Amino acid sequence: MTATEVTTDETLVLERCQQLLAEHPPADTRPEVFLGHQFDLGLAWVHFPEGHGGLGLSPKLQTTINQTLAGGGAPLAYARNPIGHGMGAPTVVTHGSEEQRTRYLRPLFTGEEVWCQMFSEPGAGSDVASLSTRAVRDGDEWVVNGQKVWTTLAHLAKWGMLVARTDPDAVKHKGMTYFVVDMEDPAVEVRPLFQITGEAEFNEVYLTDLRVPDSERLGDVGEGWGVSLTTLMNERVSIGGSVAPRGGGIIGELTKVWHERDDRTDTQRDEFMKLWIRAEVLRLTNIRAGQKRAVGNPGPEGSIGKAASAELNKDVSEFAVDLLGADGMLFPGGYTMARPKHAAMWAFTQQAFLRMRAQSIEGGTSEIMKNILGERVLGLPGDVRTDKALPWNEVPRS
Ligand SMILES: Cc1cc2nc3c(=O)[nH]c(=O)nc-3n(C[C@H](O)[C@H](O)[C@H](O)COP(=O)(O)OP(=O)(O)OC[C@H]3O[C@@H](n4cnc5c(N)ncnc54)[C@H](O)[C@@H]3O)c2cc1C
Repeated sequence: MTATEVTTDETLVLERCQQLLAEHPPADTRPEVFLGHQFDLGLAWVHFPEGHGGLGLSPKLQTTINQTLAGGGAPLAYARNPIGHGMGAPTVVTHGSEEQRTRYLRPLFTGEEVWCQMFSEPGAGSDVASLSTRAVRDGDEWVVNGQKVWTTLAHLAKWGMLVARTDPDAVKHKGMTYFVVDMEDPAVEVRPLFQITGEAEFNEVYLTDLRVPDSERLGDVGEGWGVSLTTLMNERVSIGGSVAPRGGGIIGELTKVWHERDDRTDTQRDEFMKLWIRAEVLRLTNIRAGQKRAVGNPGPEGSIGKAASAELNKDVSEFAVDLLGADGMLFPGGYTMARPKHAAMWAFTQQAFLRMRAQSIEGGTSEIMKNILGERVLGLPGDVRTDKALPWNEVPRS
């Protein structure tokens, strides 16, 4: 693409942003209505095809769009449906049929239909390809039975991304199929799981004789692993790849705590500066990774930001609680179980500290991120996998 073309594309999206803000002033427009118009103008995911929330342009322009709209007071689509936005949409646009893209993407973007991800099971987390939830074909439908766990926002979700085993005789990575399932079906039972933060952001989900139309299958039968990888690669970037302004995000919150204290020591100053530098290095790394990503889906290198941000966020929030001294032991928000409307949000430092403990687990643990980086980015010898060539139903499991 030449410099002139970039300028033309930038001009086009900036004009559309101004049109959107002028015709639907955010202050007087319901968020879902504003976001619907944003989608229709191709400003939702600018690299998606026209008619599906995009304009088929470089994803780099999305930053320009987001900054322009945020400056005009526009609502943030991501916050209303983080899993749908970060993972569901790229999976649907990559693997979905034209009908599926048309059906799912617009209400996903506006937040009118929240999405959740049903991959993990009690016996399958890091090794998600060992999952046991079964889908058995019955004419034009599939009958699903099984249990999922740690399902973030399932209590609000309309749609769930489900991976289920459809061929137990095949090796584990080959016998799975990917579905989009209706979470409002009575055969789906969602039970809250109480977290260390005092909230139940995530849930257990029981699927009992759930009938899923074949038209809600994403990708081919037996190709669920490939579709899942699109979700997982996007999940890592969604969790660890965001780019806050310099000194913003979690390090900005730490800076506020820092300035509020008058009992800081030189040793603490040294620690604070080390964290600030780590945050800035990660921010620049994420900018570089974003610019290298010429087309939509990230590759295994997305695990760099995920692993680094998990450890940084834990260290920053721990240091913030240390700065609070004895106040760090208080929990001002109360500890009665709430079922939040958002994931990974916190209202105060102590809650952030507790929530950040999960960062090196959710979306793949830090150990798994290191395995991915070692094997798929650096080309080091692989992990020992004794069950790789065995049919799934012959793999010993508890
Ligand atoms: C806050 C939160 C939200 C979540 N939301 C969702 C969601 O919405 N949907 C969903 O499907 N799942 C969700 N999860 C689940 C998450 O993806 C899993 O917890 C994670 O993949 C780890 O799986 P596990 O808990 O079964 O741990 P295990 O896989 O049993 O791992 C236990 C320990 O062994 C280590 N380990 C395992 N295998 C290896 C290996 N090969 N090499 C080195 N170390 C290894 C792990 O790093 C870990 O320390 C969520 C989890 C959390 C904490």
